[in-house]
Amino acid sequence: MSLALGFDLGGTTVTAALVSEQGEILHSLDAPTPADQPAQATLDLMEKLFAELLAHTQESVVGIGMGIAGLINPYQGVVHTSPNLPLWQDVDLRSPLQKRFGLPVYLDNDVRAMALGELHFGAGQDAESMLCLTVGTGIGSAIVLKGEIHRGATLSAGEFGHITVVHQGGRLCGCGNTGCLETLAGTQGILLLARRYLERGQAPILAKKLAQGEKLMPRLVAEAAEAGDPGCIQVWNEVGTWLGSALAGAVNFLNPERIVIGGGIAQAGKLLFGPVRQTILTRAFALPAQSVQVLAAQLGPQAGIVGASVLARRGVKA
Ligand SMILES: [Zn+2]
Repeated sequence: MSLALGFDLGGTTVTAALVSEQGEILHSLDAPTPADQPAQATLDLMEKLFAELLAHTQESVVGIGMGIAGLINPYQGVVHTSPNLPLWQDVDLRSPLQKRFGLPVYLDNDVRAMALGELHFGAGQDAESMLCLTVGTGIGSAIVLKGEIHRGATLSAGEFGHITVVHQGGRLCGCGNTGCLETLAGTQGILLLARRYLERGQAPILAKKLAQGEKLMPRLVAEAAEAGDPGCIQVWNEVGTWLGSALAGAVNFLNPERIVIGGGIAQAGKLLFGPVRQTILTRAFALPAQSVQVLAAQLGPQAGIVGASVLARRGVKA
């Protein structure tokens, strides 16, 4: 048995784990992300966690793989910028860690790591082509073609959330553009829609939950919809239709074998997947629309770290 060391650098938590060849997490360690400190603080933390994990096993460890949000150059092992780590600028993670542990070190962005996890051990298994989406506060994606991650000419491929879907009068997006898919089908878009139905008095079950002190979040909107709230059901129909319209474009354009959707919003289950699938069937060409499988991600929050271990084993393919 050989193990790989996976590392997931999130906005609030970092996780390091030893992962088997079968994608099983054997041992893991967490710590808070030192997000407001210079990069060296995180490097020190990584060294500490990795050393602790490696001391934990007699098995051979083949390499270190990492998934990090932001603009990552996997060929150079450099984090150019990361939204979670505002002080980081062109940080070389590979050289110091490779030197310290004598193992190959690979990194890529977090959505691509998640996609690798799903591709090898989750909903994407055996897919030759796949679009892997994560839908939460933002909407990210990774594209798999011929079983490999497609990164694009400037490593920017997969910014699915920033497809313009409203051409005039759209909301301002975090990216600076207006009318991006993310402003409609991400968390903020969902909450804005829910508030609209609340104001119109069309979301009574949601209103009752809020009156009981529950916090307005997508999960609550999903619970209210499941309990039959008409406004909340409509919220998911609209969100699923926005997402499905953009995916119908992707289906026509890429003709993927599979679409895998994860992230917090995907937990709404069939409330979301129903209208997504229906919209793809309505809007995309018949042949690719009928053949594409639209599936929920299977590995949950562990996809990133399991995918990082795949990166550690396989390296970065050009
Ligand atoms: Zn945008």
